[in-house]
Amino acid sequence: MDSKLYVEKIRQDFPALSTQVNNCPLAYLDNAATTQKPITVIRALETYYRDSNANVHRGVHFLSETATEAYEQTRNKLQKFINAKSSVECIFVRGTTEAINLVAGSFGKKFIQADDEILISVMEHHSNIVPWRLLCERTGAKLKYIPVTTTGELDLTKLDDLITSKTKLVAVSHVSNSLGTINPIKEVINQAHAKNIPVLIDGAQAAAHLPIDVQALDCDFYVMSAHKAYGPMGVGLLYGKQAWLEQMPPYQGGGDMILQVTQQQVTYNQLPYKFEAGTPSVADAIAWGAAIDYLWQLDTNLIQQHEHDLYTYAMAKLQNIPEIKFIGTAASKISIISFLLGSIHPHDIGTIANQYGVAIRTGHHCTMPLMDFFGIPGTARASLGLYNNYADIDQLCVALNKVQQIFHKRA
Ligand code: PMP
Repeated sequence: MDSKLYVEKIRQDFPALSTQVNNCPLAYLDNAATTQKPITVIRALETYYRDSNANVHRGVHFLSETATEAYEQTRNKLQKFINAKSSVECIFVRGTTEAINLVAGSFGKKFIQADDEILISVMEHHSNIVPWRLLCERTGAKLKYIPVTTTGELDLTKLDDLITSKTKLVAVSHVSNSLGTINPIKEVINQAHAKNIPVLIDGAQAAAHLPIDVQALDCDFYVMSAHKAYGPMGVGLLYGKQAWLEQMPPYQGGGDMILQVTQQQVTYNQLPYKFEAGTPSVADAIAWGAAIDYLWQLDTNLIQQHEHDLYTYAMAKLQNIPEIKFIGTAASKISIISFLLGSIHPHDIGTIANQYGVAIRTGHHCTMPLMDFFGIPGTARASLGLYNNYADIDQLCVALNKVQQIFHKRA
């Protein structure tokens, strides 16, 4: 089948795409913030609450067993999705943010002391900066940064110097949410491992676009959020190598994470439950399983071809918008396009685009150190998903031309 036709068929699976905004069809180009959900995911949420609502791991009754089985099935699917060695290495969390906070809290407690160093990069999302900053404030450790180049790529020329005998962890994003850069994480992992330093990869933006193989990468931690890969909000994954997770203390205390509690003592549950205190987001975890099933049944070749063609089309068409300047021009990118239009504030671009039914993101994208590096307050960002089509890009270009007309009339 032709990839254009294939995508038109896929669009039928996403009810939100038929929304009208300001009397225009919605052109949803904010997929890096969150993706829309296929109907099978929406139905899985409803089915859980209608047919098998019960708490997991706690009941011997029918509904609890049904819920537990479906919940654990998603864990098994996630193991396959990222090619983890074992499903006990897959911990359910609320999302990328919680996963990084968990590692900063737990790994930090066990392994980080005053004067140690944690190495991240200038292009990280605040979720991969602030938990480390908090850890540094608690312990007296130091946060160091891998620089970026003006094209928006990691500058690895000094990586060897940056990883010192004091470095205890390296944490970098697989893909930049502001620029779309695909980072050479294998190289970072190899260099860190050569000095026996573990590496955490923030995979929030990779999960929807790239195949992930944590064994091939040999990363020590890999984190992601379901909602950025066609799954529901409220659930995410912390992958950790078993050897690390076994050594790390629990992150939160509560139900499910214990084996035994006496008045004076607590023994902790085995992995993965040691890190899953309290009632989890069961419906969301189950619906994430439906999202993974949805991705698995797609024709990956056609999707990749389409995403590539559409991105090329978008870049060629956007070049013609007066005064457009692209921020982030790395050689290896996913389909995230960050740009400025002359001196027009990104918020004005986004607000006017919305009048034409176009949903784009504007601002600093939770990457203020990166914006500081570029000397800008923010950008406008169009990020593509597997269901975007040529009409969406045309609509974006119409809207951006209108932005220019409005501002030049005023000038
Ligand atoms: N890291 C990156 C690269 C992201 O793009 C995001 C979300 N924008 C996050 C972390 C945080 O994800 P969440 O809000 O789902 O926890």
